[in-house]
Amino acid sequence: MADPQGFLKHRDRSLPERRPVPIRLQDWHEVYDEQSESDLRQQASRCMDCGIPFCHSGCPLGNLIPEWNDLAWRGRWPDAIERLHATNNFPEFTGRLCPAPCETACVLGINQPPVTIKQVEVATIERAFDDGRVEPRPPERLSGRTVAVIGSGPAGLAAAQQLTRAGHTVAVFERADKVGGLLRYGIPEFKMEKHILDRRLAQMRAEGTRFRTGIDVGDLDAKAGWAQLRRRYDAVVIAIGATIPRGLAVPGADLDGVVQAMTYLPQANRASLGVEVPDQIMATGKDVIIIGGGDTGADCLGTALRQGARSVTSLEILPRPGAERPQTQPWPTYPMIFRVASAHEEGGKRVYGVSTQEVIGQDGAVTGLRLVDVDLKDGRFVEIEGSERTIPAQLVLLAMGFTGPDTTSLVDQLGVELDDRGNVTRDESYMTNVPGVFVAGDAGRGQSLIVWAIAEGRAAAHGVDAWLTGTSALPRPISPRDRPVVV
Ligand SMILES: Cc1cc2nc3c(=O)[nH]c(=O)nc-3n(C[C@H](O)[C@H](O)[C@H](O)COP(=O)(O)OP(=O)(O)OC[C@H]3O[C@@H](n4cnc5c(N)ncnc54)[C@H](O)[C@@H]3O)c2cc1C
Ligand code: SF4
Repeated sequence: MADPQGFLKHRDRSLPERRPVPIRLQDWHEVYDEQSESDLRQQASRCMDCGIPFCHSGCPLGNLIPEWNDLAWRGRWPDAIERLHATNNFPEFTGRLCPAPCETACVLGINQPPVTIKQVEVATIERAFDDGRVEPRPPERLSGRTVAVIGSGPAGLAAAQQLTRAGHTVAVFERADKVGGLLRYGIPEFKMEKHILDRRLAQMRAEGTRFRTGIDVGDLDAKAGWAQLRRRYDAVVIAIGATIPRGLAVPGADLDGVVQAMTYLPQANRASLGVEVPDQIMATGKDVIIIGGGDTGADCLGTALRQGARSVTSLEILPRPGAERPQTQPWPTYPMIFRVASAHEEGGKRVYGVSTQEVIGQDGAVTGLRLVDVDLKDGRFVEIEGSERTIPAQLVLLAMGFTGPDTTSLVDQLGVELDDRGNVTRDESYMTNVPGVFVAGDAGRGQSLIVWAIAEGRAAAHGVDAWLTGTSALPRPISPRDRPVVV
């Protein structure tokens, strides 16, 4: 175990400093500075080897957290990365982007600040890359079986890497011009620089995974139909994400300047990397309103501030959560508390308990929003009379989540069945009703998180491998029905 007295000697949790706001607003680089190795190892030593590590159940990947905390504390970095990679294909993604449900389940967190698990994770993988220890692991022999993975987000990438390493010949099809799914064009550079993704893709290519970009599977005109692909490959993994955005159902929502976050963010991501984006939607000099207070909203906020917005207001219909765990969400659950993402430190105003009644415009373009305060009563939002007001806006970004995957061509061409939420149904092995066709990630689970997508990709790979060969030694971290820990 890590230092038996570590949690008694070092009661404080310490994380690397974030770069000063005025400086980081001038660029698109990640916001964290490095943490010294001695500080990091001291933090890892706080892991108390509690006996029943609830962090394992908090993490959908079942990461072996106490083991690598111990190894990190001892400075045994080669062993630490071995244990980390045993359960997680891409710790450099989760170590930067995961909301860390492991930490809210950490036993030390019952009466002290929890261990900085996510920071130990990212430091371990970054050290491994720096030391040249992340090498390609091509299979020793090929199975002669072929798999097409559709979609190159974290679910598709995890499934592809597992199946390639198991000896199958894997091609990943992606409709965008570059590989990565939301890691590439959703998540801004200041949360994860794209060279981090490219570095991992180089490893995957060297292992034998092939990538085909610019192919929209289902497009019959482009001769890329689902059924064609099913005939050409021994198995197919659908990992197309949940890309249908929730709309704003109020008058005026179709005015110019009311834009979906996933229209705005990919443009900004491309531009931040020096790509010319014709007619780019910009926040520069505008009053920007973001509707929706989650990760996507925070990403819009950081982006609008870097583009030089005059003001940014984020609206959330739910009441403002408290700073402490509510009694109804006890340890080890992931509680709804007031969280401050890096973008929230940088500026903008957060308004809670408001609903949009109307988008106001002039000459076809948005000029403001009409809002009303709401109370949450018996699970319903009740408008508070007399609280109506109008606030100015020349750009309104909709970040209200996603309703599910875009399945029109899948259903038409393959006859894949959907559940009552519009997600693709699957059995315990992640196979859909169509033999040999599997589904992983947000397309099957609904809008979720990167860590769940990786876990689904790994588990679906087990299902595919077993279907192709009759048995599988690949891990299966979660079942399709597993959900976050709740009371
Ligand atoms: C703006 C934003 C920020 C987020 N931030 C975080 C965060 O900080 N932390 C976190 O844990 N989660 C975050 N999430 C959620 C997380 O990104 C997703 O849960 C995760 O990416 C889902 O992975 P996936 O592989 O299932 O799908 P995706 O990442 O959505 O990838 C699906 C891919 O399939 C491709 N595709 C779709 N249809 C086809 C087709 N017919 N043919 C070919 N290709 C196709 C798409 O182009 C896309 O590249 C965020 C989501 C958004 C929108
Ligand atoms: S992947 Fe997320 S939940 Fe799992 S150990 Fe890392 S930060 Fe924690």
